[in-house]
Amino acid sequence: MNKKEIEFYRLTVILSIIFLNYVNGAEVNSWECGKFESASIIGSDGTYLGKRPSSEWRFHRDILKYRSDINVVLHSHSLNATSLAIHHKTIPAFHYMVGLAGGNNIRCAKYETFGTQALSDAAIIALKDRLACLLGQHGMICLGKTFEEAFNLATELETLSKIYVKALSIGDTPVLSDEEMVKVIDQMKRMSYGKGPEPEGSNDIARPKND
Ligand SMILES: [Zn+2]
Repeated sequence: MNKKEIEFYRLTVILSIIFLNYVNGAEVNSWECGKFESASIIGSDGTYLGKRPSSEWRFHRDILKYRSDINVVLHSHSLNATSLAIHHKTIPAFHYMVGLAGGNNIRCAKYETFGTQALSDAAIIALKDRLACLLGQHGMICLGKTFEEAFNLATELETLSKIYVKALSIGDTPVLSDEEMVKVIDQMKRMSYGKGPEPEGSNDIARPKND
């Protein structure tokens, strides 16, 4: 493939195997591990070079096409997220970390047959203004600008799902208000972007001590 051809192809990396190994206790030492072994180079028309892509190449392609804010699509059938997806549960703001996905909930896309355009369309709807969603009776999707971002979000989603399943065993959970979630997301942005120092008196972002 020459340089010009590469411009018309997107690299679709299926991180689900690495992620599943990780949540099942294996160590992931490097983003390079499996990165290219698990990759297919796939055109927008579904033609591919090298390894045959996942049956879900369609939603990888469509999400990359419609979401200019991200570069990586991670799809998995991880145990806890999929357990919620089996019940078509949208994850509400039962915990502030739900805000990592970009809003006050993590939606569940309606069930559609795997590998179809209908599933791709449903996923794009569920991912509106979000970086993660569940797929009804199927699994989950996490997005990121980088492999590391998508992987870290997937890890958080799996943890949140595990907590939510546990919390639901006691009863319906309380949910943080929309106003509070706006504050939470603002706080996440300020802290992760390292803005600071804070105005006198707030001191909620740690910073190195100057001797
Ligand atoms: Zn799947």
